Amino acid sequence: MSLLYKSTRNSEVKVTASQAILKGLADDGGLFVPETIPSLEVSLKDLANMSYAEVAYEVMKLFLTDFTEEELKNCINRAYDSKFDTDEIAPLVKADGAYYLELFHGATIAFKDMALSILPHLLTTSAKKNAVKNDIVILTATSGDTGKAALAGFADVEGTKIIVFYPKDGVSPIQEKQMVTQKGDNTYVVAIKGNFDDAQTGVKNIFGDKEFAKLMDESGFQFSSANSINIGRLVPQIVYYVYSYAKLLQNEEISEGEEINVVVPTGNFGNILAAFYAKNMGLPIKKLVCASNDNKVLYDFFTTGEYNRNREFILTSSPSMDILISSNLERLIYRICDADSAKNKELMTSLSKEGKYEITEAMKAQLADFYGNYATEAETAKVIKDIYESTGYVIDTHTAVAAVAYKKYLADTKDNAKTVIASTASPFKFTRSVMNAIDAKYDNMGDFELVDELSKLSNVTVPNAIEEIRTAKVLHDTVCEVNEMKDTVKKILGIN
Ligand SMILES: *Cc1c(COP(=O)(O)O)cnc(C)c1O
Repeated sequence: MSLLYKSTRNSEVKVTASQAILKGLADDGGLFVPETIPSLEVSLKDLANMSYAEVAYEVMKLFLTDFTEEELKNCINRAYDSKFDTDEIAPLVKADGAYYLELFHGATIAFKDMALSILPHLLTTSAKKNAVKNDIVILTATSGDTGKAALAGFADVEGTKIIVFYPKDGVSPIQEKQMVTQKGDNTYVVAIKGNFDDAQTGVKNIFGDKEFAKLMDESGFQFSSANSINIGRLVPQIVYYVYSYAKLLQNEEISEGEEINVVVPTGNFGNILAAFYAKNMGLPIKKLVCASNDNKVLYDFFTTGEYNRNREFILTSSPSMDILISSNLERLIYRICDADSAKNKELMTSLSKEGKYEITEAMKAQLADFYGNYATEAETAKVIKDIYESTGYVIDTHTAVAAVAYKKYLADTKDNAKTVIASTASPFKFTRSVMNAIDAKYDNMGDFELVDELSKLSNVTVPNAIEEIRTAKVLHDTVCEVNEMKDTVKKILGIN
């Protein structure tokens, strides 16, 4: 049976999985959603004995129905290999009354690696299937994390090139070092003399330039994007929720069919949407706890039914969740308005025009699977210290936001179901905030000194991703003005 994808803004538009991956966004600005959510075909018991790659195949084959078994297995095997520092790929750690699902064992030690290590392979396979002859050029603007994860994923993948633009003074020194030391003959990193919005707008303008697209095509290239609304990123994220359930079952922490809760530190709503899809596939999940930091648009949405981005943007210690427009929420909105694409479009238009929208009571009633809460900066720091002191386990700031939201959920509901917390980054990625939370005395130490302290204190070896950049050579030093971005792309690709 083949599964098609339709646009959230026009249900008449239908494409195959590989076409949706190639396009990213529908022409009408909508997001692609599967016509139905498929059910798992294997029993939970059978899943319990499978490796990560095997679970990935069982889940992904149901969504990417126009991929052959060989094509999909090839993509999976090339993604989840020694780039990860553990065979388990996504280990579960029991601590402080919950199970932390560590999604940070890939190349850049954050959860975006889970999807960005397979996306390049899904994309090149999709290109072949649709007789695309051009090389795919990935163009990305980054405020730090996504750029590096995309570079690592696409590095040396045949048939692709990746160009990342970042704001020269708008990323952390470690983030910049991670990017400018990126290896791979097909990787290009460019600093722009502007801020993140300039970089983002520049990339959007290049994407929208029809004349440039024609020039590209004549030279054997076409653009694609690696951003988080691509179903090629969403589908691989469903896998680890199924895998975590399988591991709990295998370790006899739960019995077959027992319901668990899942807590997700949320920004763009991609990760938690994947957990929701897993529930709809038949995975026994009771509540999806959506955790926000001080930018608590989603908490307000779940409690009031109004989504309102008209508020101050707050910089927090969990920067990857500093977001006021959660793009992937559109997929949930579309679903709770019973796939009424006109209604969804109306709400999204209101969001772009007025910065807000309100859902109906009937739609609100369909949000019962979700519970929203948030953590302040003080609560985030305190939970890192408390969990470290009581268990020795050190979590990062994003995961800490989830830990706080879970504690608030427990206090509100007394629900004692076993709970998986998505642990989205290694504490080594946010060392300074983590160490300062544990003890103020660390404040005057240097970055790498802190890394060594954290390693001692947590009894965890320094991850390769950090070890590498201590000594890595700078391989990219291109800097350009905002208005030179297009020319820079031309120069990189050798076209004019
Ligand atoms: C991107 C990111 C998140 C947020 O995930 P969404 O899918 O955007 O909700 C949380 N934590 C970390 C470390 C991230 O990099």
